Amino acid sequence: MAIQTIGIVGAGQMGNGIAHVCALAGYEVTLTDVSQDALDRARATISRNIDRQVERGKVEPADRDAAMSRVGSTLTLTDLGQSDLIIEAATERESVKQAIFEDLVPHLKRETILTSNTSSISITRLASRTDRPEKFMGFHFMNPVPVMQLVELIRGIATDDETFDACKSVVDRLGKQAATAEDFPAFIVNRILMPMINEAVYTLYEGVGTVRSIDMSMKLGANHPMGPLALADFIGLDTCLAIMNVLHDGLADTKYRPCPLLTKYVEAGWLGRKTKRGFYDYRGEGDPVPTR
Ligand code: NAD
Repeated sequence: MAIQTIGIVGAGQMGNGIAHVCALAGYEVTLTDVSQDALDRARATISRNIDRQVERGKVEPADRDAAMSRVGSTLTLTDLGQSDLIIEAATERESVKQAIFEDLVPHLKRETILTSNTSSISITRLASRTDRPEKFMGFHFMNPVPVMQLVELIRGIATDDETFDACKSVVDRLGKQAATAEDFPAFIVNRILMPMINEAVYTLYEGVGTVRSIDMSMKLGANHPMGPLALADFIGLDTCLAIMNVLHDGLADTKYRPCPLLTKYVEAGWLGRKTKRGFYDYRGEGDPVPTR
């Protein structure tokens, strides 16, 4: 089935990025969230980010207007039921995602493909709670979506070839590259990336280095474009902690235990850039200031 309409659940940093690239690629997009504020912010962010691409000559002004006219929004989840493809990008909590799929299922058309942008939760388990495990898979974008080239496509145990091919054709039309991952905790990118970030937090926790020295070491010593703590702030510390918990629970290996300092930041509500404070403080005008 050729995908034409895409429903996106969750209008946070990932949801708005996914809506942005899908609308620019010509898909009719509907965004939903539990918060009208999040929907309003998402629209403003998409508009600002496409404007930036126009200024850089990457997008034609006419394409910007056409793309923005293709982005709709609603507070009613079930309005998305008639979409060809659903991409769920709500908060990284299994109970939240399960409730979303359970509420959606009675309103879906027969052909609708369900996907989740989860960073770590079992696709097979999420799929098993729906009426269509063969039409369910993982569609994992990287952050920031308009910039990052990769999409991980994750097949659940039941995902059929037609569903995989339909999702792969969406990735192609977005101009991105698909990597296929098996459905094990955190898939490929986060299975490798998150333990490194968690280890950077342990390095800070144990006093081996400061925020600045840890980030500088990995930038200049390992040629990473961003230090691991700056990257954690960018991803969101709640998301990082949630992924470590999924690795720890799912693989039952103590090497994945989340660093207590990461837990403490999350408990404080210092979630990184999205709350303006994490390993760095972003509230000032100048450069971010380390919080430790
Ligand atoms: P976020 O906190 O920025 O946004 C989540 C949004 O979901 C919020 O706007 C929230 O109001 C909304 N939401 C919560 N419950 C909802 C519900 N029942 N119905 C509709 N909307 C609901 O989080 P994010 O960083 O955009 O992450 C979203 C998903 O994408 C998570 O599964 C995360 O693991 C995944 N992801 C995140 C990154 C990253 O770098 N942040 C990268 C890849 C994938």
